[in-house]
Amino acid sequence: MKYFIDCLLNLCYIIYERISCRLKPKKLKGEPCKKSAASVDNDMDAIYKKEAKELLEFIKKSPTAYHAVRSICDLLKESNGEQICEAFDFDFSYGKTYYITRSMTSIIAFRVPKNPKGFMICASHTDSPTFKLKPSFEKSVCGKYITLDVEKYGGMIHSTWLDRPLSVAGRITVREENRVISKLLTLDRDLLVIPNVCIHFNRSINDGGKYNPQTDLSPLYAEGTDHTSLIKLIAEETKVRQSDILSHELFLYDRTPGCIWGSDGQFFSSSRIDDIACAYTSLKAFLKAEPTECVQIYASLDNEETGSMSRQGAHSTFLYDVLNLICSKADISNSNRQRMINSSLMVSADNAHALHPCHPEYCDQLNAPVLNGGVAIKTNAAQRYVTDAVSASLFKEICRKSNVPTQSFANRSDIAGGSTLGNILTTNVPICAVDIGMPQLAMHSAWESAGVKDVKYMTDCLSQFYMTRIICLCDGSYEIV
Ligand SMILES: [Zn+2]
Repeated sequence: MKYFIDCLLNLCYIIYERISCRLKPKKLKGEPCKKSAASVDNDMDAIYKKEAKELLEFIKKSPTAYHAVRSICDLLKESNGEQICEAFDFDFSYGKTYYITRSMTSIIAFRVPKNPKGFMICASHTDSPTFKLKPSFEKSVCGKYITLDVEKYGGMIHSTWLDRPLSVAGRITVREENRVISKLLTLDRDLLVIPNVCIHFNRSINDGGKYNPQTDLSPLYAEGTDHTSLIKLIAEETKVRQSDILSHELFLYDRTPGCIWGSDGQFFSSSRIDDIACAYTSLKAFLKAEPTECVQIYASLDNEETGSMSRQGAHSTFLYDVLNLICSKADISNSNRQRMINSSLMVSADNAHALHPCHPEYCDQLNAPVLNGGVAIKTNAAQRYVTDAVSASLFKEICRKSNVPTQSFANRSDIAGGSTLGNILTTNVPICAVDIGMPQLAMHSAWESAGVKDVKYMTDCLSQFYMTRIICLCDGSYEIV
């Protein structure tokens, strides 16, 4: 009896299958297979992760601002960009990509069409908080250890630099006959650790312990008896005579490799996400963008972490000087330049603070971006961010066109928060500007975290930005072309 019922059920199932197949619409010849929603999600997930991995690779190659600028130059050169030098004249061609560096740590690239109508500028920064070696740096401790004498560069979270493998990168200057040349170097090995004092000697370490940069943060380099000097290692690495090394700008860098993590691989962590993530995604966007009627300018500047006051930082004349250079080469008169400036937009791209999982109370309840939620548009009544209603709206429209979600960021009214490049740049170059950034956690930690989707969001909206033209209509309104 059971066998008979099973056979009957099977027969019913076969008949149902046949009927439902006939009812399905026939696939047309040559019609592509439609992907299920799950399959599309998987494809997008793979693209997000691929772009985040590419960013991690870029960060790995860029342990200091010197290396970041070199990595940026490499990508510009691969895309047929031509390096020019402030000290020399050059043959100018419309439509060609040129790039120019200052002090080897700031870079500006540009493309100029014939009869340009405006400037579309995206600026980020190449530096991150770290420790810089002093001119003389090997210190003996009780004749037993050698530590390195370092000072702070920028405002890092001290504790995050302890008990992890570190090394040294930067540049040295070398005598070569009657010349002084710069050489970049990365000591690509686990070389140093800043050890914590054990909890048994410092029972208050978990009670908000403070670190004195002079006494608590010197990395251990060697034993104090017989060791290879760091300058000897550097001379070997750069293949120069030790006696020819004249000076140096050397920094500690974190050796922990970046990674993608989380239940579904939705987060990533690395050193220097602030602000290499913006330097890299805006560069990709600049390279990807089709030429338009506007001058497209990519800038990534040094010394944001120390206030931008240097000959190559946002407070310098670098961007202003490059605009002068463009105007003189492209025969743009002063009056035309002034008209163009009014139909221009600048994006100051520097990361934003995301809602913290343990401390959501530090964020403003209504203006707290989340990881993977899209690009943050930053505003501040005290002008620490340059965004106004017009620039925010123009940028939102650009994001809408590129299907990139936006989020708003504002500090709690009782927290001062940080500042960035935008307001500094616009005092020299008075262009309508917006402060934006990729939401991230643990800003200024040795190891910061962000969301994988936001990497692609940044590249997509900035590509669209570079391909956009803003027309000032003089009645307070703007047209987006
Ligand atoms: Zn930053």
